Amino acid sequence: MDLGIRGKRALVCASSKGLGRGCAAALAEAGVDLVMNARGAAALAAAAADIRAAHQVGVVTVPCDVTTEAGRAAVLAQGPFDILVTNAGGPPPGLWSDWSREDFLRAIDANMLTPIALMQAVLPGMMAKSWGRVVNITSVSVKAPVPVLGLSNTARAGLTGFVAGTARQVASKGVTINNLLPGIHATDRAVALDGAVAKARGITMQDAIAERSATIPAGRYGTAAEFGATCAFLCSRHAGFIVGQNILLDGGATNATL
Ligand code: NAP
Repeated sequence: MDLGIRGKRALVCASSKGLGRGCAAALAEAGVDLVMNARGAAALAAAAADIRAAHQVGVVTVPCDVTTEAGRAAVLAQGPFDILVTNAGGPPPGLWSDWSREDFLRAIDANMLTPIALMQAVLPGMMAKSWGRVVNITSVSVKAPVPVLGLSNTARAGLTGFVAGTARQVASKGVTINNLLPGIHATDRAVALDGAVAKARGITMQDAIAERSATIPAGRYGTAAEFGATCAFLCSRHAGFIVGQNILLDGGATNATL
């Protein structure tokens, strides 16, 4: 299917690895020029080189921490953008009683206020051009709380509320905002979480992965490529009537009818 977005320009945050990289690669495959970002310059340059070589699109790299004001200014200086994919690392796991006010502020800054600030910066330009697509990478924790990820549950709920209202305020201008909610995907983040479980329970990584896979009706972890393909579709010209949705990609793991 031709996604109809060849020649558009996208900012894909936190995209040297994992789900962000999957989104960048899928958009590039659709002919979208990219601005990619991550903190580590070497991995970012390598990811950009792979994507340029595979898809012959323009790729600019901006190595910085997108959760800081300076980082956001650096990526936004590469605009204007037709497409925005927000993403950043997830907060650390822990117990509800562990976290201080500073821990909550860090999580809210990274996973709620940063995507909100980026949307506030790019939406006026998209509305002026009567076309735009925003996809926020959030988490399954928005629909079904993950007990050890209380910081994520909290920050992402706030972002979800902002998107619910804002998406409906910009839709008449041809701009859509939607959230993609990953369940378990085979990325470094999943390896880190599985590693913590293996250590805490004294089991091997293989056992931790097998146990977690068994909780997913699909019987496996998702892939960054599958995730990226869904993101690219939401950014396509075919997805203009999908507004303010929270789309779960979890292999059926969340046991709910709706
Ligand atoms: P990942 O494999 O660890 O990749 C994270 C990417 O983001 C890397 O490119 C990393 O590069 C970059 N990054 C992290 N913090 C950044 C920052 N402050 N500024 C700029 N770039 C940053 O993670 P992932 O699995 O793709 O997860 C992406 C998001 O989805 C996270 O918020 C995660 O919590 C959420 N999620 C993931 C899963 C899953 O199963 N994978 C499930 C639910 C939710 P640098 O480290 O070099 O900056």
